[in-house]
Amino acid sequence: MLKTKMIGSETIVIAAEYIKAGTKISRLSGEVRDESTKYTIQTGLKEHTDAPFPFRYMSHRCNDPNTAFIFDEEPWACVALEDIPPGAEISCDYDTTEYICFKPIDCWCKSEKCRKTVKGYYYLSDDEKEMLKDKVSPAIKMLSVK
Ligand SMILES: [Zn+2]
Repeated sequence: MLKTKMIGSETIVIAAEYIKAGTKISRLSGEVRDESTKYTIQTGLKEHTDAPFPFRYMSHRCNDPNTAFIFDEEPWACVALEDIPPGAEISCDYDTTEYICFKPIDCWCKSEKCRKTVKGYYYLSDDEKEMLKDKVSPAIKMLSVK
């Protein structure tokens, strides 16, 4: 369903076939670590789960990403939010799962509300947090009430 593509020295994930809206494109069933890496998704207060290949190369988009995680089943699944044509880049909003990103990431998503640098939910403005409040993971919700 997914495959990687090189853009310069960067690896991204694209749709290998037509993906219908609502399709679960990946599940987080990897090894759980107590520290984040470039390829983990934060799944608990101090739990970071290895994202499977090739899903781990998914791009970030600040607004209107074409996938998002659903947190009401274990392990969490990532779902297509819209019909995704073959060859289209797969994206999700890192700030919905990472409280503090492994390292800051420059964003060129070109959306009107691009955050330019993605550092994790902790660093968002109050307005941005309000916008994402229904999309963030249970781990982010727990961390943000502390
Ligand atoms: Zn952006």
